[in-house]
Amino acid sequence: MDLVSIERQYKIRRFNITIIAIIFTLLLILVVHHFDYFAITKKHANCAEEYEKQCNELAIIEQERKQEQEEQENIVQIGVQSPETKLPELTQKGRDNISNIYSSERKRAFLTFDDGPSREISIPILDLLKTENIKVTFFVLGSRVELYPDIVKREYEEGHYIANHGYSHIYSQIYTNTQTVLDEYNKTNDAIKNALGEPNYNSHLFRFPGGSVGGKYKQIKKEAIALLDSNNIAHVDWNALTGDAEGKSTKEEEISYLKETIGEKNNVVILMHDAADKSATYEALPEIISYLREKGYEFCNFYDIIE
Ligand SMILES: [Zn+2]
Repeated sequence: MDLVSIERQYKIRRFNITIIAIIFTLLLILVVHHFDYFAITKKHANCAEEYEKQCNELAIIEQERKQEQEEQENIVQIGVQSPETKLPELTQKGRDNISNIYSSERKRAFLTFDDGPSREISIPILDLLKTENIKVTFFVLGSRVELYPDIVKREYEEGHYIANHGYSHIYSQIYTNTQTVLDEYNKTNDAIKNALGEPNYNSHLFRFPGGSVGGKYKQIKKEAIALLDSNNIAHVDWNALTGDAEGKSTKEEEISYLKETIGEKNNVVILMHDAADKSATYEALPEIISYLREKGYEFCNFYDIIE
């Protein structure tokens, strides 16, 4: 081999080496870039995953916050909706309305319950009145209010009128003199205040046990009316009754007697009792309510007329 041939071979080999080196470098760049790309892609993927996770967490927090807000709004709404309580006020117009209670042209029925509260009868009556959406008047006895303050509070909170029927219901005690009538009113009013947790409660409305006229104590009753009046306390009797305190002991007897005493009256103040032994009154009540509705009476309580 001559020198020229050796030199040519050497140049070719150097050229090849250079080409290989270039290709190798290019490959190396390509590989490095490739790894970089994967690394970046993976990083991006991780970021996306992390971002999604954060988004989910934020969504959960937001949802929880909304739920909490809704719950709080519900609590506020419940607080606004109930109870529907009101302290009675007796104005001159209220006095006149009570004095003329039987002479309105509208057909009105005042359901009134005396001698309660009792756990046996007052509670089922309250449940029924709630279903029927009727507000009535309870003439409570102070001695009974002290036994069942929770029932009186429920009556009040459900929009019924809590009026006063004295403390003892023992005629010889309450009608000892005019002052004892007022004393029993005040003692009962204190019991109502305690039951309701309303230090300013005053019903301004009394029902004389046995009625405000006649009987052995008629003179004391007459004078007591004036004493109560000067203390801003009105009184009311009734003009229709089931006879549940006068020997009518079945549902049928009570309904029949009530229809008889209602007659053709436009305004009826109906005397009933929610004492423990008056289960027939409770049993008669759904039919009494239907009858009054059929006859076109509007149900009222003393909140509707006292102011
Ligand atoms: Zn009574």
